[in-house]
Amino acid sequence: MQSVTKTKRVPERKCCGCGLVKAGKEMFRIVRTPEGDVLIDESGRMNGRGAYICRDRDCIARAEKKNSIGRSLKTETGRELYEDLRTRCGRD
Ligand SMILES: [Zn+2]
Repeated sequence: MQSVTKTKRVPERKCCGCGLVKAGKEMFRIVRTPEGDVLIDESGRMNGRGAYICRDRDCIARAEKKNSIGRSLKTETGRELYEDLRTRCGRD
């Protein structure tokens, strides 16, 4: 393992789909707010319990199949969440 010498700490997050750990900016953050809503947090700064997933349709499909975002957030997630994620990663 190489040690990375950076003054700025890049938080690494584990994808709910493929399980790989990546820099947060390569991923969507999904938040369960204190009110119990499940939202996609584009700013990365919302309060609440967070789950992460790659900006990748394969990962979204895998997470949907396993319901891993819901399990990670310990709440129910609807189909709409995954539809929303797919829409957002289809921009390029
Ligand atoms: Zn992934």
